[in-house]
Formats: sequence, structure tokens, C-alpha cells
Amino acid sequence: MDYTYAPGRNHLFVPGPVNIPEQVLRAMNRNNEDYRSPAIPALTKNLLEDVKKIFKTTSGTPFLIPTTGTGAWESALTNTLSPGDRIISFLIGQFSLLWIDQQQRLNFDVDVVESEWGRGANLDILASKLAADRNHSIKAICIVHNETATGVTNNLSAVRKLLDDYNHPALFLVDGVSSICAIDFLMDEWGVDVALTGSQKALSLPTGLGIVCASPKAIEASKTAKSVRVFFDWKDYLKFYKMGTYWPYTPSIQLLYGLRAALDLIFEEGLDNVIARHSRLGKATRLAVEAWGLKNCTQSEEWVSDTVTAVVVPPYIDSAEVVRRAWKRYNLSLGLGLNKVAGKVFRIGHLGHLNELQLLGCLSGVEMILKDIGYPVKLGSGVAAAAAYLQNNIPMIPSRI
Ligand code: PLP
Repeated sequence: MDYTYAPGRNHLFVPGPVNIPEQVLRAMNRNNEDYRSPAIPALTKNLLEDVKKIFKTTSGTPFLIPTTGTGAWESALTNTLSPGDRIISFLIGQFSLLWIDQQQRLNFDVDVVESEWGRGANLDILASKLAADRNHSIKAICIVHNETATGVTNNLSAVRKLLDDYNHPALFLVDGVSSICAIDFLMDEWGVDVALTGSQKALSLPTGLGIVCASPKAIEASKTAKSVRVFFDWKDYLKFYKMGTYWPYTPSIQLLYGLRAALDLIFEEGLDNVIARHSRLGKATRLAVEAWGLKNCTQSEEWVSDTVTAVVVPPYIDSAEVVRRAWKRYNLSLGLGLNKVAGKVFRIGHLGHLNELQLLGCLSGVEMILKDIGYPVKLGSGVAAAAAYLQNNIPMIPSRI
């Protein structure tokens, strides 16, 4: 018995985990298999080749790790760095904070560059630190591409440009958990050394796969990095890649078939079309927020996120009440404000397996909730602003023209 049953579909608008496509659900609905049979290595080989496309890399080496985004962080750090290494890490919200906490607990010497929550990474400070670092004591730059807590997208090409301008050899480690497959990510062009994501975000799979991609420079660094690692050791993966069996330990057969189906759907739509769809969803959401007379937590247009919008509520409203009501009254799941912005923002996740009409449903729900709790919103105002934009911008569905 499902005591929280509600009729119709839950409107899942948290910024991950996201909706899973029917095709992916069906692909995963299967028995276990012997992962040492010829079938799974063949499937894995193709997955490793294809997964490189979502990072836009040809030279990277991918790892499909049974873990979450947090484990993918650990894999990136422990394979490339040694305890005591100086790294620069940007603190702009809850997820960058958690990554920094992990970096400190792994005993790196973390030089934290903090911004007000709602702002992006402070690249002026990065520039001054790189300029001062003539003996190259900085071993890595760690940055969250899209800070899911505040809806802030950092400019990675600007980070790469600074590293190049100062001719600095630091590794460039990027959390793409809430960006990859939704916001354009150019691993090779930006010279990213380790990029990572989690399966439950824009890939629209269940939680459980950490997908990490390492540049040749990162693979080279892993040969001398002294951080203790066992489960996450790339060396073990590479050994099994060479042998053609691919798995140093038991993979989730169901997730591998799910990943195959998820990639097939993304390639069928076209990765750049997927990215354009997210851009429309993000823009439509921001137009609705503006029409409601509310503020986006993101403080400047340069950092707006196409996967999550953190909406600031007036001081007399508790944003957690918005989220509670959404679920209890409208079968709508929104994201809570986290840590410093708890009670102050609620988040609309608009990523993964989602289309424009679904978003309009969410926006109409948010309007009713705002009215419920005493915010003077005109019902339909945000939906109208979003719909006017979408009606002008939604292309024909390529496979139905
Ligand atoms: N990084 C970002 C940007 C995230 O949004 C999250 C989770 O939401 C994580 C890392 C942690 O991922 P996980 O919860 O899968 O460990």
C-alpha cells in the first residue's frame, strides 16, 4: 500500500533526481546477467566510446563507476592529487561547499575562494593567485560548473583562458553533475582534466553511476598521485580495459542497459538539441519568475543556469512552506533552499527528461502555491510570460516533421 498515493503523475521538479524516460525504465527491467560473458564487455566498450560524446571529448578516458556524484568527486581528486597538494576551490553554494569539505578531509591544502551565494566563481582572485604562483605550487583548480543550490553556472572557458594566459600547469577538475547533458560542456576545447557527472541528473537515469572522464594529462598525473584509493583507483579500471573485460568489480547490469537507452535517446534528439531545449526551459522559467515580481537568486545574467532556478521569496514567506505545500496539495516536487539560503529560496529544477508543457504545469502550480501562502501573484502571469516565449521558440520535433 502506498500511503502517499496521489492521482496522476508526480510533477518532479527537483534538480535531480529527475524523471526517467519510459524507454529507459523498460531497458532496465531485466534479469541479472553474467558480467564476464561476452555480452557485457561488448556493451561496455560501446558505452565507453559513446559516453565521451556527452563530455565532447575525443581524447578523454571515461570511467563508469558504481557510485554517486560524491564518489565521482573522490575519484577525480584521489587519482590525480597527493595529500598536502595545494588546490584552489571556489565556494559559491552548498555543493561546492561539500566538495571543499571532501577536499579538506582528504588532506589537500585547499585555498578557498569564496563568493556570495548567488554569484559565480571569483575569477579576478584566481587571476591574482595564478599570477603570484611563479613556482607552480597550485596543483589543481576545482570548480563546480553549475552550482545546483543557487542556480549559478560558472564560465569554464574563462578559467581555461586564465590558466593559458599565465601558462599555468594546474589540473582543471570540474564537477559537471548538474550541467553535463544539459548545458554545453566542451571538455577538450576547455582543456578540462577531469570532468564528472552523476546518472540521476540530466542523463535521466536512476542514481548509482558516477561518470568520470580523465584527460591524458590527468591519466599521467594518476601514475604519481599518492592519495590512498582502492575502490576508485583508475589503475584497476585501466587494467581491465586492457584485458577487454572492462570491470574490476561487479557492475549494475540494469544501469548499463539503462545508460545505453539514455544515450540512445539523447543522440536521437541530438545533444545540441537537448542543450537548446534546456536553454528554452531555463529562459521560460526565468521569465515566469520575473512576471511574478520575484527575484532569481542568481545575481547576474552572466551566471544564469539552464538546469535550475533558485527563486528568492519575500522575507515574510518561508520557502520551505512553498515546497511542503507543493507536494501536499499539488503533487509537485520542488527543491528546498539549502544551508545559507534555507527558507529563503525554493528551487525549480528543469533538467533531464522534460518538455515545455510539463514546465508550464509546474509554473502554474507554483503560482497557486504562492497565492495560497499570501504572496500577491496574479494567477497565470508567469505561465503567460513563459508560454509567450515558448510559443515563439519551440522548434518542430525533429522526428515528427
Ligand atoms: N555536485 C552537484 C553540483 C550536485 O548538484 C550534487 C547533488 O545534487 C552533487 C555534486 C552530489 O551528488 P550525489 O548526491 O549524487 O552524491
